[in-house]
Amino acid sequence: MVRYVKDEALGLIALRITATARKYKVFIRRGRVVGSMPPPPYGEVSIMIKLIDENKAELLKALKEEKKKIPDETVEQRNVLIRKANVYLPERLAELATKYDFSYRIIRIKDNKSRWGSCSSLGAINLSLGLMRIPTHLIDYVLLHELCHTVEMNHGPRFWALMNKVTGGDAKKLRLELRKYSL
Ligand SMILES: [Zn+2]
Repeated sequence: MVRYVKDEALGLIALRITATARKYKVFIRRGRVVGSMPPPPYGEVSIMIKLIDENKAELLKALKEEKKKIPDETVEQRNVLIRKANVYLPERLAELATKYDFSYRIIRIKDNKSRWGSCSSLGAINLSLGLMRIPTHLIDYVLLHELCHTVEMNHGPRFWALMNKVTGGDAKKLRLELRKYSL
């Protein structure tokens, strides 16, 4: 589970709450502060936030350093990505929907930095431009995830059963693999 907390100075902070985490850790990945922590009852978001606060000066400095290393995507590169996304994602979504018999109403592609995708109860699927930066089998995973939400709006057992049906039983494996990437 990932929660996002906004900090005035540090920007959007991703809090990764994972069952395997034993300690609180703060690090920087791809220009963003990431906090890793155990789940409740051992893990408490307030402790994580406190740790981030205590290390704020250091984190700010590290963020600045990293920004220097990674040049910002040029406007031109981004425009190319937008054009590619607007061709690839609607086509692939339609293909997968036809193959597995899902229906949706509308697809929107945005430069969303907090989620790979989302699906509204009215069948509107929102996809992040960031999908264009991950391997195609993981793009499919996200598209199928949103398509499954057109049937099951939650992440309950029925949702995961459906996800397994359309991924050949690989849903959890793909989910873990996607975690290696950040938006
Ligand atoms: Zn979901």
